[in-house]
Amino acid sequence: MKKWVLGLGVAVLALGGTVTARTMMFAPGEVADGSAIKVAPAAPFSIDAAARNLSQAVQFKTVSNQDAAQNQTAEWDKLQGWMATTYPKAHAAMQKELLGQTLVYTWAGSDPAAQPIILMAHQDVVPVTAGTEKDWKYQPFAGTIAEGAVWGRGTIDDKGSLIAMFEALEALSAQGFKPKRTIYIVSGHDEEVGGTGAAAAAKLLADRKVKALFTLDEGGVITTDTPVLGKPAMMIGVAEKGYVTLRVTAPAPGGHSSMPPAEIGTVNLSKAVVAIHADQHPMELRGPVGAMIDVLAAQAGGMTKVAAANKWLLGGQIVSTMAKSPTSAAMLHTTTAPTMLEGSPKENVLPQSANALINYRIAPWDSSAEILKRAKAAVSGLPVEVAITERGAREPTPVSSSTSLGWQLIVASARAGHQGLIAAPYLVVGGTDSRNMTPVSDDVYRFMPISLSTAETKMIHGTNEHITLGNLEAMIAFYTRLIATAAG
Ligand SMILES: [Zn+2]
Repeated sequence: MKKWVLGLGVAVLALGGTVTARTMMFAPGEVADGSAIKVAPAAPFSIDAAARNLSQAVQFKTVSNQDAAQNQTAEWDKLQGWMATTYPKAHAAMQKELLGQTLVYTWAGSDPAAQPIILMAHQDVVPVTAGTEKDWKYQPFAGTIAEGAVWGRGTIDDKGSLIAMFEALEALSAQGFKPKRTIYIVSGHDEEVGGTGAAAAAKLLADRKVKALFTLDEGGVITTDTPVLGKPAMMIGVAEKGYVTLRVTAPAPGGHSSMPPAEIGTVNLSKAVVAIHADQHPMELRGPVGAMIDVLAAQAGGMTKVAAANKWLLGGQIVSTMAKSPTSAAMLHTTTAPTMLEGSPKENVLPQSANALINYRIAPWDSSAEILKRAKAAVSGLPVEVAITERGAREPTPVSSSTSLGWQLIVASARAGHQGLIAAPYLVVGGTDSRNMTPVSDDVYRFMPISLSTAETKMIHGTNEHITLGNLEAMIAFYTRLIATAAG
């Protein structure tokens, strides 16, 4: 960063007036800070009891395996039974429905004219990768409370959210809270393997003509080392990238490898994969990512602000800085990842067909059709075929507002626990259950008010997943404030 800042100084001097004027007038685009909202106080709760409850929740092995036959389906029933006995007041206040093992709770509001809100947190977790068990400081399904944290698979993703939400619902019910807006709690059972449960829940809500004010699910966090700013900021997901996989197939005559022909399928396939990978989708400061950079740069001040205010001249500097980290680079474009290659099944056999799978995560401004077109153009002249796999594409979600009432309620409720923190819109590069809620919700947000560095986020789906008691406490307090403020 330092080097380009120096270079930037020279450029700024050279272009003097225009750059200075643009910097002085620079204000981040349409992003509200939540200061217009009067936030309800947090309801009282016990963090020690909450930590013990999260510990228990982790011990139910609601593991979504790629092969569903390996799932221990009884574990979901046990988790749900345990939730009902652990949170009796919340369960008395709400109506519970089961769609398979996906939970939909309704806490009916007193004002039928008020738009409802939807809060989401999934029950399932990813498996612990075979061979990595020994790398865990504490057993991944023991729910150990140690070193000021709860340890285990799901403590963040997403039982941390689920338990924080129910702690909040229980605390509010105990206070005698009665919502004006209806509150829906949707807890998918299979988020980690496609989210069919959340899709069914969305259909149920659509059949009931629900049009929620907002939906809140997992996604962004309080990133302590944000790009550009380098300091903490609340990164609130306003959109989710899409997903598509292309299959590249190279036909070939096959035969014995002792007499190879001129045309070999694996060679043509390799050329095609290299050509597609070389033709990367350009990195751009657009849409939610452009807005995120504006917010962070305005806060950072100095040359970073100069660069953001003068993207026409210096935007490339921001892009090249962000491109250095795969995490931030992924936000700037549709990513291209050749993941699987297949040739012949034996070392002395020429392949009769060779194929590769290339996985893309689609930026909000792209589509699967454009991706296919671009890949086909990249391999024109090579004897290969390119097609979208049978699984089909998932297009990127729409971009939710950064000024809506829903956005402001979330920002204000989170800021009440983290004075002075700014909120930036954020692009979620993975997938969440909340994408299903687009038809039943004006806006969809993805955020947990827990503080994590970019390096710490690697424990999610990785090794030594844990949540500090400070983060758990902040999240419970946040949910009590958000529910009481939004629905009270
Ligand atoms: Zn998750």
